[in-house]
Amino acid sequence: MSLSGIQIYKLLPQTNCKDCDFPTCLAFAMKLAAKQVELSACPHVSEESAAQLSAASQPPVRPMAVKSNGFEIKAGSETVMFRHEKKFVTKPGLFLRVYDSESPDAIKAKVGPANDFAVDYVGIDLTMDGFAVQANGGSFADAVRAVREVSHRPIILIGGPDEIKAGLAELAEGEVPLLGCADAGDWQTMAGLAKNAKAPLALTADSMDEMVNLAEKVKEAGVNDIVLAPGQRSLHGTLSANTMARRLALKKNFRPLGYPIVNFPGDWGDPGREVTAAAQAIAKYSDFVVLDHFSPETAYPLLVLRENIYTDPQKPIQVQPGLYEINNPGPEDPVLVTTNFSITYFSVANEVEGAGLPAWLLVTDAEGMSVLTAWAAGKFDAERIAKDAKAFEVADKVSRKRIVLPGHVAVLSGEVEEEMPGWEVRVGPREAVDLPKFMKSVLG
Ligand code: SF4
Repeated sequence: MSLSGIQIYKLLPQTNCKDCDFPTCLAFAMKLAAKQVELSACPHVSEESAAQLSAASQPPVRPMAVKSNGFEIKAGSETVMFRHEKKFVTKPGLFLRVYDSESPDAIKAKVGPANDFAVDYVGIDLTMDGFAVQANGGSFADAVRAVREVSHRPIILIGGPDEIKAGLAELAEGEVPLLGCADAGDWQTMAGLAKNAKAPLALTADSMDEMVNLAEKVKEAGVNDIVLAPGQRSLHGTLSANTMARRLALKKNFRPLGYPIVNFPGDWGDPGREVTAAAQAIAKYSDFVVLDHFSPETAYPLLVLRENIYTDPQKPIQVQPGLYEINNPGPEDPVLVTTNFSITYFSVANEVEGAGLPAWLLVTDAEGMSVLTAWAAGKFDAERIAKDAKAFEVADKVSRKRIVLPGHVAVLSGEVEEEMPGWEVRVGPREAVDLPKFMKSVLG
């Protein structure tokens, strides 16, 4: 049973010392009741109160991870139903499934390209997260071995107790796979295997009532890391099951459904429908998404969708401020200025790099905002540009001191001239796409 903000407040020291970064104990209590802060943020709470508050401070969706060879896919820890309420925390892992009825060579041919797939998206490496092996009448151990010959990413083992046992024997020590899917018929044996392997166990049931019943029994049997695998497979059925489980966990603190979720868009069989189901799963509460088909054309948009949903809406994607070299610039080449909002940086850098023009790119610390937003917020002004130019020793790199401001902040040119005496200040185009033409025709 969760505690209300007022009930939590009564258990806090009530000194309003602000050490938790909240102005009052009441404000902290309200956030704790909303599961938006950790109890540990208050260093002054008594042991007795901490014990009483522990239930209230437990994450409503149990955190856990699958691991292998330095890879880790986290799941759980979510606190909100909608991203705009705060942020989503753990990105759903994208797993490609193979079947043990496929030959080891066919498995390797399927896993290899997915394992090697990597795209740089505004400074973030997009990759597939792991692989799932499903029993289908073949040799489960051979299939797991074939996957491990080409990939060391985390693994999901799907089968009955015998197959799971055989699969576990193929994994390296220290690996934490996700095991599944236990049902009403085999949960006791599967729970025993999960306990021994210290691995999370996925449970499947056709209705949420059955799922609750199963989760309670498996928890009682000593398995703490449970993953829900709703039996519903239609778009509507999956959406309803995922939403119901997450809503009950977050809004009612209903523990039997307070676990990560695994979905199987791959069960659709058809690659087009599979992508649609995967997109829905990513958007709506899935923690592990199991696909049957891999192609760069479908993996990329799914991974970008995931990034867009799982970035903190209050923190823009940023690049490191600094002086970047584009196409090996020399001392005569111009210094372009922009902010450290990732998309701004990559727009400018890609245009100039693609045109083969050498330039220095001074990326200022504008707290990740785009040029106009940063200027309006007072984070991108003449003083900041001059300060960063000095901090990154731009003057030492060039003999011809030419600095190009983004066209959107032409208004800053006079102030930059004052702040940076000896520099020739030019106003560039408003859009990055026009930079190559500007550099060729105006800068020469
Ligand atoms: S740190 Fe604890 S005592 Fe201090 S204001 Fe926050 S909740 Fe209150």
